[in-house]
Amino acid sequence: MQRWGLLIDGRKVETDDFQEVINPSTGSVVSAMPVGRARDLDAAVAAASKAFSVWKEVPDSQRAEACRAIAKTIDAHSEELARLLTLEQGKPMNGLGSRFEIGGAVAWTRYTADLSLPVEVLQDGAEGRVELHRKPIGVVGSITPWNWPVMIACWHIIPAIRAGNTVVIKPSPLTPLSTIRLVELINEELPPGVVNVVTGENEIGSLMSSHPGIAKVTFTGSTATGRKIMQNAAGTLKRLTLELGGNDAGIVLPDAEPKKIVEGLFWGAFINCGQTCAALKRLYVHDSLYDEVCRELTAYAKQVVVGDGLSDSSTLGPVQNRRQFEIVSSFVKEAREKGGRVLIGGDPADGPGWFYPVTLVADVDHGCRLVDEEQFGPALPIIRYSDLDEAVEKANSSSMGLGGSVWGSDHEALKQVAQRIEAGSVWINKHGAIQPNAPFGGVKQSGFGVEFGLEGLKEFTVVQTVFC
Ligand code: NAD
Repeated sequence: MQRWGLLIDGRKVETDDFQEVINPSTGSVVSAMPVGRARDLDAAVAAASKAFSVWKEVPDSQRAEACRAIAKTIDAHSEELARLLTLEQGKPMNGLGSRFEIGGAVAWTRYTADLSLPVEVLQDGAEGRVELHRKPIGVVGSITPWNWPVMIACWHIIPAIRAGNTVVIKPSPLTPLSTIRLVELINEELPPGVVNVVTGENEIGSLMSSHPGIAKVTFTGSTATGRKIMQNAAGTLKRLTLELGGNDAGIVLPDAEPKKIVEGLFWGAFINCGQTCAALKRLYVHDSLYDEVCRELTAYAKQVVVGDGLSDSSTLGPVQNRRQFEIVSSFVKEAREKGGRVLIGGDPADGPGWFYPVTLVADVDHGCRLVDEEQFGPALPIIRYSDLDEAVEKANSSSMGLGGSVWGSDHEALKQVAQRIEAGSVWINKHGAIQPNAPFGGVKQSGFGVEFGLEGLKEFTVVQTVFC
């Protein structure tokens, strides 16, 4: 078995302890994660601090060039990274799976490499010249989840270093290996210490949030963890970007054409087995076409192949871990007990692997966890409505506000409804389609700050106003 290590100051660092990484398709051991300790984190932060004093002075064009080189290197190793990702995360190689994720990581890296934040002249006249400069912040701590680990690592690392910061990343202990390999590859294009990885238990994330050497934490994960990070970061007043959970609503209007929207609805909800922050997690359908939408979705779901991620025929893989599997199972069980009608799925076969079938639950409403909370798995509740205002009110009743969508035929009417949804992103006749040039982030308890594009890059800077 390969012996993995941390990567600190450009060097592999061996740990005394290891923890098994499990393949969720088979339940077998993929490899072992090195368990970093507080002293490893301190060493990584010290290396990143030292590197920062040099990296922040490197000419902007050189930093852009390094990011372009990173994109090329990731691309050249895409097959290796995709396979590792499938082994530890479970998602299929094909479809919207591992190859898609690595392709996304390359695309985001390329796009971000070409961004720049030139000095803005706010005033230049008889009264003097005032310039707005954007400076890097320092050492950025990146904490990532297990659902899209490689792409999210790039969303954190690339804008941070592009803007002149240095990074210590801590991936989820459930999917650490693809991030270690990613950081090894990134290090081929950078001076030592600019990007470091410390794998380990959740405690490392906690220590990062209060570490005096870390100036900003960028976090993607659950709302509950986001709250803890905010508390821990208060002592050192760290900058924070928090991309947290979602319970995205989609509203199907009476003039929608079910056959036309069914594919978008399905993948909006079931991408990565529903384990996607901005997936469609509650579907509101107008009474007049409720039965037809249910029928079309069920027919579509029947031809989706759920299986081992390494199999070429799989379009969806397993749930990533036992805890999430149990959450999905208990939510569906409760929905059933409260009168929900399971159209397809609902009954997972015995292992091996955490396979949960694609599940559609009709005739449910608020008051059950499948609707009220984030299921983060392959089970979609379909809620009937007859009054649009009531549907919008219910959609907005969540404490979360990451994404939302509206489906129908009259574009102007759709836009108007879309703007009434309390969410950081809204889509029309699609859901969850993110892109590197469009800012993405949550409102309410889905977090704050945005990623992607110029707005996202600015989050890795502080403003310095120069009165010349
Ligand atoms: P999680 O919050 O359990 O863990 C995320 C990361 O935080 C892991 O690396 C974990 O080790 C670390 N962590 C755990 N406790 C910590 C603590 N006290 N202090 C600091 N770090 C700690 O989330 P998860 O289960 O890995 O991911 C699923 C969640 O992430 C879902 O809620 C999903 O919606 C959300 N998510 C959000 C986005 C977004 O962009 N908004 C994207 C992907 C996932």
